[in-house]
Amino acid sequence: MNTDDDEQVTPAQIEPKRWQCCHCGGTGVDSYGDTCPHCHGLGFC
Ligand SMILES: [Zn+2]
Ligand SMILES: [Zn+2]
Repeated sequence: MNTDDDEQVTPAQIEPKRWQCCHCGGTGVDSYGDTCPHCHGLGFC
């Protein structure tokens, strides 16, 4: 017997995992006002 099972694919909960940069604190700029070399200005790494 072939049962047509409609598998409802529920989208996994995608949580934005943004880790605040430990070097600049999420600003993307280091203490010198330059682009953070750790996250390259992204603010998270
Ligand atoms: Zn970092
Ligand atoms: Zn950084």
